[in-house]
Amino acid sequence: RRKIMQYNDMSKEELLVLKESLNKEYAEAKAKGLALDMSRGKPSAKQLDVSLGLLDTINSSSDLKSLDGTDCRNYGVLDGIPEAKKLMADMMGTTPDHVIVYGNASLNIMYDQISRAYTHGILGNTPWCKLDKVKFLCPVPGYDRHFAITERFGIEMINIPMSESGPDMGMVEEYVSKDASVKGIWCVPKYSNPQGYTYSEETVKRMAALKPAAEDFRIFWDNAYVIHDLYDDNKDEIADIISECEKAGNPDMVFEFASTSKVSFPGSGIAALATSANNIADIKKQLTIQTIGHDKLNQLRHVRFFKDINGLKEHMRKHAEFIRPKFEAVESVLEEELSGLGIGSWTEPKGGYFISFDAMDGCAKAIVAKCKEAGVKLTGAGATFPYGKDPKDSNIRIAPSFPTPEEMKQAADLFVLCVKLVSVEKLLE
Ligand code: PLP
Repeated sequence: RRKIMQYNDMSKEELLVLKESLNKEYAEAKAKGLALDMSRGKPSAKQLDVSLGLLDTINSSSDLKSLDGTDCRNYGVLDGIPEAKKLMADMMGTTPDHVIVYGNASLNIMYDQISRAYTHGILGNTPWCKLDKVKFLCPVPGYDRHFAITERFGIEMINIPMSESGPDMGMVEEYVSKDASVKGIWCVPKYSNPQGYTYSEETVKRMAALKPAAEDFRIFWDNAYVIHDLYDDNKDEIADIISECEKAGNPDMVFEFASTSKVSFPGSGIAALATSANNIADIKKQLTIQTIGHDKLNQLRHVRFFKDINGLKEHMRKHAEFIRPKFEAVESVLEEELSGLGIGSWTEPKGGYFISFDAMDGCAKAIVAKCKEAGVKLTGAGATFPYGKDPKDSNIRIAPSFPTPEEMKQAADLFVLCVKLVSVEKLLE
């Protein structure tokens, strides 16, 4: 076995020798001309293949009526056909009366929720555009597209550190209860993007029991990875935020989002919002002006293909078969090559789409650039923080789902080499 010595404990001479050999390795790696993309959490083609049957569920000879007799070919039904509401409710762990089924993307619903709060206000509250200041809490590292929405509306974003049990709730409680300009928090409660952490039961309960200074404070509960487990016998559970908020006397405080983007086809799935009756009535007032109804044939297709929540779960086991080896390949390369060196730490999620890597402070940008130079594209350093600014320049998101396992191994090998090289250079500064 190789001798493990923390880089920090090496003398300048030792580091210089190491740097020379790493540089040689890097030149060889670069000469291979890799062209791999680990930048976005996309399903692989093989995962998409297991959903192809969805396209055969309806055709010109199918009965195209929903359970309540609605002709799905025609206009109508603002909030989704009953069986699609039921499927999405079961996915989120709530009941159909809490659900509106939208179009193909949950991000679109999130944008719409913020946009409406900004222009028209939530449940009769002052529209955010009329306020001097609107702030959002952003657990970090987090999902870049959430931060892009709030940035777009000029909402000030406040970093809240994440731990394995979720956001720092002491900080969240302090901000939310004292500052009426804090109007929301972005949450990915299960298998968070990018760390793969799942909020503990205590975190969920404290979240539901918040006592906001602002009446229109909302938790934006993006349950994007709610059924995306990697292991059948070792999975995280997330409590139902809707009923927790009801129990805590805050029924209107949460908007929950989910979609089948990483279940069926990203871009052609179905997406839904879950929230209280009050909020649903408020939202429908505007939704009815925005559309006469979403794509009911696609809703029908999804329900006929998956049938029910058990069908969804069975389907996700097939996805896990493809994704699991890639996560494990990355984790074993990281473990083999970096453990004990003191130059990085990483998460080992039980689901979701990402692994989060923390390099030595001030190294993330350089590592991502080095990988790119040698043909491996990673998510831009900083992307996991509001305004694209990682204060420590240390976090890197790894997205193992798309490449093949062999490609994943090659990419991981290059990644650890770049981590070593940049760390040595940093220590020599
Ligand atoms: N939310 C999170 C946390 C995600 O990671 C993603 C995609 O990466 C999305 C939402 C996008 O969801 P949709 O395709 O439903 O818009």
